[in-house]
Formats: sequence, structure tokens, C-alpha cells
Amino acid sequence: MSDKMITLSQNDIPKAWYNVVADMPTIPDPPLNPGTGQPIGPEDLAPLFPMGLILQEVSQDRWTDIPEEILKLYAMWRPSPLFRATRLEEKLGTPAKIYYKYEGGSPAGSHKPNTAVAQAYYNKEEGVRRLATETGAGQWGSALSMACSFFGLECTVYMVKVSYHQKPYRRSMMQAWGGQVIPSPSDQTNAGRGILEKDPDSPGSLGIAISEAVEDAATHDDTKYSLGSVLNHVLMHQTVIGLEVKKQLEIAGDKPSLLIGACGGGSNFAGLVFPFMPEKMAGEDIRFLAVEPTSCPTLTKGKYAYDFGDTAQMTPIIPMYTLGHDFVPPGIHAGGLRYHGEAALVSILHRDGIVDAVAYTQNPVFEAALMFARTEGILAAPESAHAVKAAVDEAVRCKEEGKEEVIVFNLSGHGLLDLTAYDAYLAGELEDYTYPDEKIAESLKNLPQF
Ligand SMILES: *Cc1c(COP(=O)(O)O)cnc(C)c1O
Repeated sequence: MSDKMITLSQNDIPKAWYNVVADMPTIPDPPLNPGTGQPIGPEDLAPLFPMGLILQEVSQDRWTDIPEEILKLYAMWRPSPLFRATRLEEKLGTPAKIYYKYEGGSPAGSHKPNTAVAQAYYNKEEGVRRLATETGAGQWGSALSMACSFFGLECTVYMVKVSYHQKPYRRSMMQAWGGQVIPSPSDQTNAGRGILEKDPDSPGSLGIAISEAVEDAATHDDTKYSLGSVLNHVLMHQTVIGLEVKKQLEIAGDKPSLLIGACGGGSNFAGLVFPFMPEKMAGEDIRFLAVEPTSCPTLTKGKYAYDFGDTAQMTPIIPMYTLGHDFVPPGIHAGGLRYHGEAALVSILHRDGIVDAVAYTQNPVFEAALMFARTEGILAAPESAHAVKAAVDEAVRCKEEGKEEVIVFNLSGHGLLDLTAYDAYLAGELEDYTYPDEKIAESLKNLPQF
């Protein structure tokens, strides 16, 4: 048996993004204004986002054409390869077929440039000069810094302070692409100063960094805000992943029975699975499985409710699975999965039983990542390793049940800048932390009441 890499030609890069809203049974209730509690309209979002992206955010159209300039940039790393993991299958002795879509080949090393170049494009179109954003482990900040450099935009990145110190190399990447990186909480914003007054040693969190970036954009006319996950338009941009997978599986002559993605805010998961929604709704037997860490168990232990996207309560209030907007997750190595909320679209699909979810602790995740590296060669990002672990477990289940399923997972990024995490695992220093139910209940007490 030889490994199969299913490649497409550049003509096969999708020409339109797919909007799942056109095909899902129930669509989420509208976001609410954080001040008034009233449903927000496009005008409310105008201080933060360019109209091109706002229209995508509220669109119910099934397809949105991808502008030529974005397609040209996509061609630098798209179409991305789909691999059949034959050596992993052999190692596991499973009758299942395992495929993985590899998004680590983009210049920033993850799926995030798929939306970063689109967002930079629409901001540039509308005369924006600077983008402000937040980043946890640095993947989003580096993707957006790169995209801004392509379009001649300035980029200010509020980076969660603990990661700023623990992950110096992603900071270097952002600076190499011209981004300005500020450890958050910072003294540059009211939100940051407020946190520092109460806790000068605050390690920061994504919720805090979002507050800082939103405030920066809202208080500067030439600056807009940019978010790397969660929002409808971000998930839509990522559907190029699943649209390509559909073509690749057709070439391979296989139909998927299980699609798996690691879930932080939900964008790479949605990017893989949403394009298969029409088949799922038509009654085909396809499971969608979202994977998260037990230290930040948004879908598996959170509550479906309206909540703020940030700590300072400045973002619109979104109906989603949440652990509470002041939830500060422990410093696990999968930094991209440490967000208290979840995309509204993924959330409602989970509530309606269309998306399944599972949570894992760190050690089994890294154990699976090493098995994957030693069979397939690629060192997965700690976030992506959650999808690897789920794929391994499902393949083992197929072995036990004697089922020949077709498992496809998204390998959202490589882990070449996460070697300290692999070191810690190999040294036996990783903690298997499960966020205690009582503490979740406590932070859920502060949900806004609407
Ligand atoms: C950011 C990131 C994630 C998590 O974000 P989603 O929006 O849930 O996709 C997962 N994997 C990698 C490699 C990331 O950089």
C-alpha cells in the first residue's frame, strides 16, 4: 500500500464561499447590542467592520463569489492537499479509511490565512488604514499581519500576555510581517488599564485582548477590528477547505461517514464540515464531530445562552455555547482552543443535535499527535492534535465494530512553533486538567440577562 496524496489543480480552487445559513434547519437568533439589548443591524457593526464583511455576516445567500484578488492570493497555498493516512491506518489495524486535509502549508502554517487575506481585502477596498486584532498563541496575529502586509495595511495585535512571553517566535513572525505586537492587558486602552489596576500580574486572556482590540478600533476613525474565528463571515471564508475536500474525495471515490475538526471558535471545523450540510440534511449518513480540550469545554459543558464575546462586555451579545465571558482558561498548550465561547452557527447546530462534540485532556492528545508524527510524518499543532486524537479513537472504534467507515479530519496547522509543548509532553510535565463543574457554574452566573 502506498500513501495517497490527492491534489487538485489551481483551477479547482473554489470560486465562491458557501454559506451554511442557506441550508440549516434553524438559524441563530440575532446578535444583540451590548448597550441596549436590542437586535443589532448593519449600522451597529459599521464602526468595527467594513460594509463588505458586514453584508457577508448577515447574508442568507448560499454562495458569495470570491474576488479575483483573493483567489490569486489563495493560489499561493491552495488547493491544499488531502492525504490518505495509510500508515496510521496500518498502525491502528483499522478497517476504516482515514483522510486528513492539511492546512499547515500556508505561509503562516495554519488555516487562518484563508480568512485573513479576505478580511484585509475588504478593509482595503473601503479605505481602512489599520486593523486591530487580538491573538492567543499567535496564529491569528501572524496570519493577519501577513495579510495586511500584502495590502499595505498597518496591523496592531493585542497578544495574550502569557503567550507573548511563552511563544516568542510567533511574535517574531508577526513583527517580521510588519505587525505591531502589544502584550495584553496593556496600558494602551481603558479595558487593559482597568484589568491592570485590579491585577497588575494578569496573564491576560482572549476575552481581555478582544476588549482591547475592539476599543482600539472603535476609538480610531481609520482603524477597524478583525476577528480570526467565531463570526459567520469568518466561517464562510474557511469553507474553501470543505469544498476542496468534496472534490478530492470524489477523485478518491469515497464518501465521508465522519468529519472531524478541532474546535476553538469553530472556524476550521466549520470550514471542513459546513459544505457537507446539504448531504447531511438530505439524510445521508454523515457525522460531524467537534473536538475541544477538557480545560475549555465550551460545547461539552458550557451553556447555550446569549453572552458577550469579550471580558469588558463591548462586543455584540451572541447566542452561543459559552463558559461565561469572564472565564479564564488555564494555560494549556493548545492556545487556539482557549476561548470561552463558540461560533453561533456551530453552537446552534450542536444544540439541534447536528454537530456532536467530545473533549480530551492534553496527554492523550499529544500521545496521538506523536503516533501521527511517527506514521504520517507531520508534527501537528497542539490544536489540530485534538482532531488527530478523535480520528484515532474513532478508527479504533471502527476496528472494534468491524466497520469500514471513511473518516476525514482537518489538520488545521503544523506544530513547528510548538516544540516546547512537545518537549513538555515528552518530559512528562503536562497536566491532565479538567475544568471543574463548580467553577463553570460560577462563571455562568454572570451571563447577561435577556
Ligand atoms: C486558531 C487555530 C485553531 C482554533 O480556531 P478555530 O477557529 O476553532 O479553527 C485550530 N487549529 C489551529 C492550527 C489554529 O491556529
